[in-house]
Amino acid sequence: MQYIRDNRRKIAYFSMEIGINQEIRTYSGGLGILAGDTIRSAADLSIPMVGVTLLYRKGYLHQQLDSNGWQIEGPDEWKIEEFLTELPNRISLRIEGRYIYIRAWRYEVTGVSGDIVPVFFLDADLPENAERDRLLTHHLYGGGEYERLAQEKILGIGGVRMLRNLGYTDIERFHMNEGHSSLLTLELLDLEATKRGSSEINYSDVDAVRDKCVFTTHTPVSAGHDIFGLELVEQVLRRQEFRKMPEVFCHEGKLNMTYVAMNLSRYINGVAKKHGEVSRTMFSTHDIDSITNGVHVSYWTSVSMQAVFDKYLKGWRKDNYELRYTLNIPNEAIWKAHQEAKKKLIALIGETTSRVFDADVFTIGFARRFTQYKRGDLIFHDMNKLIRIAEDSKGLQIVFGGKAHPRDQMGKDIIQRVVRHSKVRSEKLKIIFLPDYDIELAKILIPGVDLWLNTPEAPLEASGTSGMKAALNGVPSLSTLDGWWIEGHVEGITGWSIGEDDKAKPQGESSQRHAESLYEKLKTKILPLFYGRLANYQHIMRNSISLNGAFFNTQRMLQEYVLKAYYL
Ligand SMILES: *Cc1c(COP(=O)(O)O)cnc(C)c1O
Repeated sequence: MQYIRDNRRKIAYFSMEIGINQEIRTYSGGLGILAGDTIRSAADLSIPMVGVTLLYRKGYLHQQLDSNGWQIEGPDEWKIEEFLTELPNRISLRIEGRYIYIRAWRYEVTGVSGDIVPVFFLDADLPENAERDRLLTHHLYGGGEYERLAQEKILGIGGVRMLRNLGYTDIERFHMNEGHSSLLTLELLDLEATKRGSSEINYSDVDAVRDKCVFTTHTPVSAGHDIFGLELVEQVLRRQEFRKMPEVFCHEGKLNMTYVAMNLSRYINGVAKKHGEVSRTMFSTHDIDSITNGVHVSYWTSVSMQAVFDKYLKGWRKDNYELRYTLNIPNEAIWKAHQEAKKKLIALIGETTSRVFDADVFTIGFARRFTQYKRGDLIFHDMNKLIRIAEDSKGLQIVFGGKAHPRDQMGKDIIQRVVRHSKVRSEKLKIIFLPDYDIELAKILIPGVDLWLNTPEAPLEASGTSGMKAALNGVPSLSTLDGWWIEGHVEGITGWSIGEDDKAKPQGESSQRHAESLYEKLKTKILPLFYGRLANYQHIMRNSISLNGAFFNTQRMLQEYVLKAYYL
C-alpha cells in the first residue's frame, strides 16, 4: 500500500473545500477551486504535497430557480465510492467530551509527468458515531456556529492526526488555505509539548509550530473570518489554552481563526498585491506578504483551444510560460477555437432552456457567487440605456450563472433581479441565467463568451479567478479595478476597466458611476471593435492569453509559494 510507505511528503495543504473534480461536490466556489488548481499544479511540478479536506456527502448546494427566479436549494449528493478509495485508517477526537471516529478517503491527482498528489477526505459518517455526529461532515458551509466549529476541529485536529496515522510523520510545512483549518496548530502544539514530556503547551512550542505553518488569507470581508465565542469554544473543544494564552488564540476576547493562523505562521499572504495591502491595514500587527492567485492552465482551457496550444506551443502543459508565445499564433487559429467554444455554449443554452442564441452576436459572460459586493446586477442599473446600446449595435447577448449562499438573502435577491431582467423583450438584447453553476458549467460558459464581466466593489474582491480562466481562453475582461485585475489590466490591450477614474471621485455611491462607465466602455470601445474592427478585437484576445494566461496560473503561483512560503 503505497500511501503508508509514501512518507516523503513535506507539505500538507489544508482546505475546508477542494474542487478537485467536477463530480466530487465538496466545493462552493473560488476558494475550493483555487485549492483544486493548487493541487493539480503541485502534481505537475512534482511538489511533495498532500491535501486534506472534509468529505461532504451532501455537497454544498444544488441550485434550482422557482418560477419567480428565487433560488431553491437542495442537497447535492454524489457517489463517493465511484471517485474515492476508502481507507481502513481511523482516528478519534472529542467534541463536547464525546468521542467521534473519523475515517479517510483517498483521491489521487496525477500531474503531467505522472507524479501523484494524494488528497484525503475526512468523514465523520461512521456507524460507531452518535447519529448527530454522523451528520457533522455532511454539508459544506451548512449548519450553525456549533457545526462549523466542530467541522473545523475535525479538519484541523483530525487532519493532523489522520496524516500521522497514514504515516506522514515528516511534514515540514502545514499550509492553511484560509482560517478554517487553524486548529491544526493546536494539535501541533500538543505534539511539541508531548515531545518535551509535558502535557501543557508553552511559548517554546509556539515558536516551534510557527516555524512549520503557512497561512493564506482570502477575504477582506470581515464576515469571511471565523470568530467563535469562548463559551461555545469551551463547550465544543474543552480546552483551557484559549483563556490561558489569549494573545495566541484570541482577538477581542473571542477565538479568532484568522488570528490563530497569523500568530502561528512563519509566512502569511494575501492573494493579490492589493489584497496584501488591504490585509496589512486590517491586521497591522502582522507581516503580510502577497502571492497573486492563478488557475490551472490545461484544466481551464477549452478543448478546442487546447488543440491550438498543442499545435503551436511546445510543452505548454508542463511549462505554462510557453503561453507567452501565443503572440506567434495566427489570430484565425485562436478565433476558430473560440468560435467552437462559443457554439458549445450556445448549444448548451439551446438544450437546457430552448432559447436561441447566435454565435455571431457579441456575448458577455458573468458567473460567480451572488453576493452584494459583487454587484451581479450592475449591468441592469439603467435597463433602457442597456437596451439602447444593444439596439444601436448588431446585438448583445448576456449569459449569467452563480449560486448564493442559502442564508444570503441579498444574494438571492440579486439572482431574482437578473432572472427578471432576462425576460426583456428586445430583438437585439438576449439575457439568460443558467442555473447550478459549477465546474462543469464554468468550463463551457467562460470560454464560450466574448467578454468576461466582473463588477466587484473595490477593495472587497481579494483576487477573483474566473477572469484568469477567461484570459486563458482568449476572453478579455471588462472589470472594476480590484483584485487580480489591477495587475492583469492594460487598457485596450488585455481588456478594459470600469471606473478607472474612481480615485478622483468622492467615496460611496459608486454603483451609478460604475454603471455609466460600463455602458460607456461597451458603447464606445468594445462593441465598435467587435463589430467594426474584428482583427483588433482578436489581437486583444491573443494578448489575454499571452500576457495574462502565461502569468495568472497556479504553476507560477506555486513556484512563488515554494520560494517565499514553503522554502524547504
Ligand atoms: C472560478 C470559479 C469561481 C470563482 O470565480 P470568481 O471570479 O473568483 O468569483 C466560482 N465558481 C466556479 C464554479 C468557478 O469555476
